Amino acid sequence: MTDNDLYREHILDHYGHPRNRGHLDDPDIVADADEPSCGDQVRLELAVNSDGRVQQVAFEGEGCMISMASASILTEHIEGRSLDELKSLTEDDMLALVDAPVGSSRRRCALLPLKVLQSGLRMHSERG
Ligand code: ZN
Repeated sequence: MTDNDLYREHILDHYGHPRNRGHLDDPDIVADADEPSCGDQVRLELAVNSDGRVQQVAFEGEGCMISMASASILTEHIEGRSLDELKSLTEDDMLALVDAPVGSSRRRCALLPLKVLQSGLRMHSERG
């Protein structure tokens, strides 16, 4: 098995069986964004508990395999984490989570879910 097969299996698994796909009943944070150059759209919904931790997370979206797999991977990563931890999540962290040799063209697809998360966190903290 080559590295490329591994990459495909990891991405295909999340793409074919997305985790946390859907909507929450009463989300505290809702954000979306798109990547026009590829046509990807991602929407994230987060329910935050009184300790400032992500209690539940869901995503919806459409787009290429990398963007959808990346959204699924991100939801698995952020569940149970504090908003402060999520604010410090970097692009490098996100690319490490996706764990695929994304070229420059697919890099924006892999980072789109992070962009959505960051915009949601920003709106949430501005609201106080
Ligand atoms: Zn894409």
